Amino acid sequence: MPYTLYFASGNAGKLRDFAAAAEVFHVAVLPLPGLKDIPAPEETGATFEENAALKAIYYSRFLPDQLVIADDSGLEVDALDGAPGVRSARYADDAAFEAPGTADERNNLYLLQQLASRKLQTSTARYRCVIALARNGEVLLSADGSVEGEILPSPRGTGGFGYDPVFYLPYLGKTMAEIDLAQKQHLSHRGNALLQLLQKLNESPQLR
Ligand code: IMP
Repeated sequence: MPYTLYFASGNAGKLRDFAAAAEVFHVAVLPLPGLKDIPAPEETGATFEENAALKAIYYSRFLPDQLVIADDSGLEVDALDGAPGVRSARYADDAAFEAPGTADERNNLYLLQQLASRKLQTSTARYRCVIALARNGEVLLSADGSVEGEILPSPRGTGGFGYDPVFYLPYLGKTMAEIDLAQKQHLSHRGNALLQLLQKLNESPQLR
């Protein structure tokens, strides 16, 4: 039976990624009604799992009896012991690192500096996304998706967002900022995580 998941995020790019991945399962992913009037909870978790769960629990209380999903994502760089991780969006700001440009550009610059200060030009890395599914304040399921890559010593490409210009996919010979949207959606950590979640949900029809 087709069903709907309500996504607790105002990020249009993420919603598009999730909706595209869910089509395969004939599942609709819609924005959580009234989201813009709900104050966002503080993301205090130490892991992607904790943050995704706390958001899903919180937002599901605003839409009784419905299936609500929330996600948390970021970049893990092996040579930096998994940083920036859950702090990916605020990496440069956390360190009070100042440089001209956008927040994304500052984050990328700070990341490359952190590698350079360890006398490194590159490192293996991955994007990760964890999705939690909740109903009435209770997590029912969660799932994890990732995409493996390497950090480049300098940015390349103009597409994407965040760390995409320094995130290199060796098997494609391109950064995430050099591939087109359809290709990115196909291999994305977000689409990946959602497919895992939908597979689990299909195996547990009593949860729907
Ligand atoms: P959040 O899941 O909205 O908290 O995103 C965390 C941060 O991780 C973003 O602000 C980006 O810096 C980074 N990030 C997550 N997914 C991607 C991606 O697909 N490309 C580039 N950066 C990403």
